[in-house]
Amino acid sequence: MVKHHLPDEYLMAYSAGILSESFSLVVAAHVSLSDDSRARMEAYDAVGGAVLDSAPVANLSDGSLQATLDRIMGAPAGPSADEPIGQGAFPAPLQEYVGGDLDAVKWRSVGMGVKQAILKKDGSTSVRLLYIPKGMAMPDHSHGGLEMTLVLQGAYRDDDGEFHRGDIEVANDETQHTPVAFGPEDCICLTATDARLKFTSILPRLAQPFLQI
Ligand code: ZN
Repeated sequence: MVKHHLPDEYLMAYSAGILSESFSLVVAAHVSLSDDSRARMEAYDAVGGAVLDSAPVANLSDGSLQATLDRIMGAPAGPSADEPIGQGAFPAPLQEYVGGDLDAVKWRSVGMGVKQAILKKDGSTSVRLLYIPKGMAMPDHSHGGLEMTLVLQGAYRDDDGEFHRGDIEVANDETQHTPVAFGPEDCICLTATDARLKFTSILPRLAQPFLQI
């Protein structure tokens, strides 16, 4: 059961197509796992369609249709409502993006058993998979901007509660946390950020250029 759903403002932004590719991927994967978020998103899609239907007709420049189609084709696939449960760790949009499930991921060790795989990096915005062994804490950090974390396997806890598969946590520049993986399974998360993290201790700060986080 998903307990932590995505706030409306991000569902609206996703529905309107104004989220970056990195955040869109996290939202699409979350919506695949959360009935609540999917229902709200479908409502926003319907509202958006109604707004378009009632909007005045504008003359488009040459090539705008192709540009729009290119954007749609390049965007992560939307969530599917009939995703089979228990078919691997990755929801359908993430499977399509990665080109497979967990076994298709090319992990890189970042030390202490923690691994990451950067899926997309575009300026300061990125989306990555994080693998955190059970019992392991991530270094205490705050955020220069937005961070969206979706749990795919296992669980972690921080000051905001416990996050299990399908749960999403949105952190911003007011959030400081030390996520700790717990439970019987290692924790795997999909995380998008639009600014570098601010680590409170020196070692993670030194490693930051190598981790690209
Ligand atoms: Zn964080």
